[in-house]
Amino acid sequence: MKSIAEVAASLEGYDPQALSAQGVGQFLSRLIEPVTESEDVAIHDALDRVLAADVISPVNVPPHDNSAMDGYAFDGAQLAGGAALSLKVVGTALAGRAWQGTVQTGECVKIMTGAIMPAGLDTVVPQEFTKGVPDQSGERITLPAGLLQPGDNRRFKGEDVMQGRPALRRGERLGPAALGLAASLGIAKVRVVRRVRVACFSTGDEILSLGDAPREGAVYDSNRYTLLGLLTRLGCQVIDMGVVRDEPALLEAAFTQAAEQADVIISSGGVSVGEADFTKAMMKKLGDVAFWKVAMRPGRPMAVGRIGTPGGRDAILFGLPGNPVAVMVTFLAFVRPALLQLMGSTAAPLPLLKATSKEAIRKKPGRTEYQRGTVSSAADGSLQVAITGNQGSGVLSSMVQANGLIVLHHGQGNVAAGEAVDVMMFDGVI
Ligand code: AMP
Ligand code: MG
Repeated sequence: MKSIAEVAASLEGYDPQALSAQGVGQFLSRLIEPVTESEDVAIHDALDRVLAADVISPVNVPPHDNSAMDGYAFDGAQLAGGAALSLKVVGTALAGRAWQGTVQTGECVKIMTGAIMPAGLDTVVPQEFTKGVPDQSGERITLPAGLLQPGDNRRFKGEDVMQGRPALRRGERLGPAALGLAASLGIAKVRVVRRVRVACFSTGDEILSLGDAPREGAVYDSNRYTLLGLLTRLGCQVIDMGVVRDEPALLEAAFTQAAEQADVIISSGGVSVGEADFTKAMMKKLGDVAFWKVAMRPGRPMAVGRIGTPGGRDAILFGLPGNPVAVMVTFLAFVRPALLQLMGSTAAPLPLLKATSKEAIRKKPGRTEYQRGTVSSAADGSLQVAITGNQGSGVLSSMVQANGLIVLHHGQGNVAAGEAVDVMMFDGVI
């Protein structure tokens, strides 16, 4: 397990007072070590879990060469002459059972989609391309010249998944398609990384819990609820620790209890510069923690490190800023990738898409800015994006309207209307 100082020393130009968003990502990717404990779960309960081992296929999918179309199966060698073919229909192969007869040159077998290819046949002409000509000896079909190649419309045994080969790789986060694939192999259980436990609490004397009576100067806690949603979407086990008042004894109890139960602690608030509270002091006392000023907006102050317990356990700490949008942005930019790494996921980072900005955006070079936007399709099918109202770092309503974030990179300056910008879509994430 690396200390903050060790990770810091491994990064060129590390400056906690002016860390780039990219620098934060690098720091975290070096700090986090994946969870190694795993468990077996039923396919039914495996959505969004991460595979702890490759899933080796016990079978071929499909199990036999079979037809991709409703049509007539024949030996493709007869196409070599390049002429139209006239073939006698000698039987019918239905899906789900093998057709047992033999087929001579000049003959074919009527076949249904998914039916096993009769022995010796490798090509299927789709029904719609044939002409049926009944004669005294039974049905004949003709197929035009130049239409088919040998092997057309035949699916190979094992072309989807080969017996004995990995069908799914360790690190795969199981989505609906992966669950279907595992099920198609007859696999009822998979070995997955145990769930990551995340303890969350909000800090600040002005923060009210739901059910508290409103009072002047106080605000209801929103951060815990957005975090709860974000973490649940990610498949984490969330430990909700409520709101913790700005008192050393309460903060110490909360951090220690969280570190005892969880792999990760996410607190919000109390990490700003000049904050007159005890949160930062307690993080320092209980752990190995870096306090950063990140060159980004929103989300400048952040604390990251480990919090230890007297019993020798420790948990990774993300001390996020207090402003509600800053919490969501720092979560998406840093915490989410870090949690995926902790879960052992090998998924690629969320892709950035290009969209045309419908309006001019002011942007200072030297920091990464995230603006809330609505991405839509323009008349020509390309993507366009508009900013959703007030971009204040406490304004959640513009986050609710948004379906993505516009990412204005560190070196980037003002954006003109009509210019392309990078966008990160929320689909499946928020
Ligand atoms: P702080 O980072 O603690 O200085 O908080 C910055 C701003 O975010 C202040 O206006 C706080 O009232 C607000 N804030 C902090 N925590 C929360 C929370 N859990 N829910 C809503 N607003 C918060
Ligand atoms: Mg505060």
